[in-house]
Amino acid sequence: MVEKMEEMKAMLLKMKEDTLKEISKAMKSGSDVKSGEPSGDIYDQASSERDRELGLLLGDREREKLRNIDEALLKLEEGEYGICEECEEDIPIGRLKVVPFARYCVKCKADIEKQQAQTKRFEEDRVYREITLGEEEEM
Ligand SMILES: [Zn+2]
Repeated sequence: MVEKMEEMKAMLLKMKEDTLKEISKAMKSGSDVKSGEPSGDIYDQASSERDRELGLLLGDREREKLRNIDEALLKLEEGEYGICEECEEDIPIGRLKVVPFARYCVKCKADIEKQQAQTKRFEEDRVYREITLGEEEEM
């Protein structure tokens, strides 16, 4: 089991490196538009504007991935890696090899996604109603 954990750690670190490379690449192609900006380490120049830019370029997916990888690495340190956060069952190693930063077993993940989809629909519905109501008030 310890060997497996070492393997997963190496995989996660590699994945993190790749994701950071993707981010850095996206940042570079994004800043080509604005010339004359000092170039350097992207982290030194981090600002809310850059964060927003980064967010726009990468979307939530890449950032979420990076966050998940960091969380998985933290769990490895704490010896909690590979345990479903919902039902606390062991996540099968086969699944971890496909999704090294998996936080849930397949069953719980499916349940959570179903729930999230419902919440999202509800939120969108609510926002839409608020906009419509706002317009009516102004008239
Ligand atoms: Zn579970």
